[in-house]
Amino acid sequence: MTMMKQALPVNKNDTVTLDIIGLTHEGEGVGRVDGFTLFVQGALPGERVSAKVLKVKKTYGYAKQLELLQASPHRVDAPCPIYKQCGGCQLQHMSYEAQLVWKRQHVIDSLQRIGKLEVQDSNRGDSQLVADGNAAAAGQTSGLRGILVHPTIGMDEPWRYRNKAQVPIGMAMADLDSGAAGSLIGGFYARGSHRIVDMDACLIQHENNDAAVRQVKSIGNRVGISAYDETTGRGILRHVVVRTGFVTGEMMVVLVTSGPRIPRLEDWIAGIREALPQVKSIVQNINKRQTNVIFGDETRTLWGSDVIYDELDGLRFAISARSFYQVNPAQTLRLYQSAVDYAGLTGSENVIDAYCGIGTISLFLARRAGNVYGVEIVPEAIEDAKRNAELNGITNASFEAGPAEVVIPRWRSEGVTPDVIVVDPPRKGCDEQLLDTILKMQPERVVYVSCNPATLARDLQVLEAGGYQTVEVQPVDMFPHTSHVESVCLLVKD
Ligand code: SAH
Repeated sequence: MTMMKQALPVNKNDTVTLDIIGLTHEGEGVGRVDGFTLFVQGALPGERVSAKVLKVKKTYGYAKQLELLQASPHRVDAPCPIYKQCGGCQLQHMSYEAQLVWKRQHVIDSLQRIGKLEVQDSNRGDSQLVADGNAAAAGQTSGLRGILVHPTIGMDEPWRYRNKAQVPIGMAMADLDSGAAGSLIGGFYARGSHRIVDMDACLIQHENNDAAVRQVKSIGNRVGISAYDETTGRGILRHVVVRTGFVTGEMMVVLVTSGPRIPRLEDWIAGIREALPQVKSIVQNINKRQTNVIFGDETRTLWGSDVIYDELDGLRFAISARSFYQVNPAQTLRLYQSAVDYAGLTGSENVIDAYCGIGTISLFLARRAGNVYGVEIVPEAIEDAKRNAELNGITNASFEAGPAEVVIPRWRSEGVTPDVIVVDPPRKGCDEQLLDTILKMQPERVVYVSCNPATLARDLQVLEAGGYQTVEVQPVDMFPHTSHVESVCLLVKD
């Protein structure tokens, strides 16, 4: 007897007509055929498309848009010429206004579906929300139950906003075939792959970073350096990382290589300095491992300073190659402002800043608090944080390197009693051990800065179960034209 495979409503290579009813967190359109879900890159909610089925799994599949039968009023022409190939941006085909509305809705959906949390009238228009927000800021409550999710704070000019470029380097295909030297390429990975799309300009990147990457490719070709090949593990240059301080203009160029040797090092240094006088620091990072993690453990300064400086709201920050520093400075100010507001400081509080990076949020808080304790896992970042406190004459902030989920429980046993805990974890969210410690420490307020609504919702559910109430969430658009959603959230002890 042969087992009958249960028939699915669609098969690979079928052409289907789809009404797009939603957008995934990666920015793909969602459509259904007889209840079967298909994801379509580039299609927007409200659109009707004809699409070819590319791949079918048990409960969902992927389809490629063939024709746009009915366009969304929010559809715009993507300004970037390589938008379709490049995997860097996901939402350039959607108006900026609609992106902001979608990002807020994405936060709401995550809170409701993943966190099982109640959100205040989640279908309100943005203008009503602004009114609610103003009332809340004035200390009035709307009388509605549930979390208030504010409209997303967007940018006035949502282009050229990034201060950091991290560009993988490869060889042009033609050269691989002919074995000819030269022709380095560098750009983003193509959507869903590790094939590099060569790029001369990126519309969300600071122009000077673009210029630095072009210069590195051109010097590389001149001196004949080989690009690292992920599959064989051979070749030298893996990544170029460039940072520009938006306020100071200072630049750092990091060459990530597979080993210590850089051929014709003097030519590199002279070439970079000549083309880009703003460069204050040229650094090499050595990554010998066969991994797609960009940085290895060994960093050395090839020329100039080991850090560059930038400023945020009058505070000065030293930033070294491997330290985290928010990539969108204009929106960082708004993000930090919300975090400081939510901390509700009067000048006497003890505050913990977990996942503090180079101490940026810590120092913003320290200006209004009694004492701030920052903790961060990357030791270089903690060195930067200490230096930054000193640089700004701030004496009420101290820092320790280590995992937040280990260091903070120890602080607890040493008698640290925070009034406020701020957390700003990476995408995977807070460690359970940390959440548990927060619940034991019982601060009046918890401020959660999140770059991933799904893990935010998961963690809020834990804190709510432990006696905290989520009051409000402020989404801030740190990454226009991408599907990334950042938000700041206030919790208070019930
Ligand atoms: N608050 C900072 C940094 C946020 S990014 C800012 O706004 O600039 C998150 C930071 O968490 C990174 O610096 C990362 O190195 C750090 N990190 C990751 N895992 C950690 C852990 N388990 N404990 C402490 N810090 C961690």
